[in-house]
Amino acid sequence: MVVRSSSPEETRRLAGRLGRLVVACDVVLLGGDLGAGKTTFTQGLARALGVKEPVTSPTFTLMRSYHGTGGLQLLHADVYRLEYLQEIMDLGLPELLEEGAAAVVEWGDRAAPALLADYLEIRIEFGEEDDERILHVRPVGARWDARKEQLAQALAVQDSTWIAQAQP
Ligand code: ADP
Ligand code: MG
Repeated sequence: MVVRSSSPEETRRLAGRLGRLVVACDVVLLGGDLGAGKTTFTQGLARALGVKEPVTSPTFTLMRSYHGTGGLQLLHADVYRLEYLQEIMDLGLPELLEEGAAAVVEWGDRAAPALLADYLEIRIEFGEEDDERILHVRPVGARWDARKEQLAQALAVQDSTWIAQAQP
């Protein structure tokens, strides 16, 4: 599934629509180069989950924790170097997910992470215009495969341009 965003706020709104599908134990993996909009996306997702604190880049802390509505703990990590994934694992990401947290991981590497079996992958590419971004949304694993239709619905909004949908 591919969708175009033409502003930071539009990316936050799209993230919010996807964020409403996020439940305990979910992982959202954000791919894309520096400045693509991964943190911006996370802000919209967190807002939709009821996080009131401002969401900033976790670059120097590796992982931050926020509280959403309904007691959901939202973790936000930035793995812009591959070795940080191991550090985040060591910080207890798998255990926190097991206990019911949800996680958004900014992923600087192109290779898919071997340590995670189920995740929603959002790859953000730069478009032709300054504020244009192309979001590639891909469910990976059974947890997210089961939500394909809801994902498609969440992305089919009037104010964003629906570019293409992968054949089932
Ligand atoms: P990353 O976390 O991927 O490094 P950030 O979200 O921190 O990226 O930064 C993205 C930058 O690009 C922000 O300054 C944001 O305002 C800008 N921007 C411009 N257009 C968009 C868009 N359509 N979506 C997301 N960010 C955008
Ligand atoms: Mg970032």
